[in-house]
Amino acid sequence: QLALARAEDLILEIPDYPSEGIIFRDITPLIADGDALRATVDAMIAPFAGQFDVVAGLEARGFLFASAAAYTSGAGLMPVRKAGKLPRPAVTVEYSLEYGSAVIEAHGDFPRGTRVLILDDVLATGGTLAAAHDLMEQLGYEVAGTAVLFEIEGLGGREALGDHELHTVFTS
Ligand code: 5GP
Repeated sequence: QLALARAEDLILEIPDYPSEGIIFRDITPLIADGDALRATVDAMIAPFAGQFDVVAGLEARGFLFASAAAYTSGAGLMPVRKAGKLPRPAVTVEYSLEYGSAVIEAHGDFPRGTRVLILDDVLATGGTLAAAHDLMEQLGYEVAGTAVLFEIEGLGGREALGDHELHTVFTS
């Protein structure tokens, strides 16, 4: 609990990054601290113990938490990548951003019905995680849950995820 409390203090608020008016949450000091990193990963997956077969991590910061979560729980790891990075045919979901759109992709290497826990670092508008849900459904997988380290409130992220279960460790 002490490590978890300290972890929250290790998330920095960076004003006007990447553009003016945005407060960016920088998680690099948190992952630099071994105890904080371990406590955080444990807290992200705790509600879903025994309920997932695979951890899906969203490129790029989601990878940091997903691989640790997969390792510690003995689950497999699925990288959900941005467009054009996967070497084999993949299922693709396009979603809108504030300006323009983005694409995420994953290979369909797991059997239908595989239970997937989706992890990312930060929830903002929810567009990315909602697209990840879509992607898992198109691949025939079952979403066991979604967890993020940090939820920025007031941007509609939770609403964007609808009825899907969302677990957040820290909230703004
Ligand atoms: P959303 O799709 O919810 O608007 O944005 C979430 C995605 O953008 C996540 O993949 C996350 O990594 C990134 N993101 C958005 N805002 C922040 C932020 O303040 N800090 C960090 N670390 N990532 C952010």
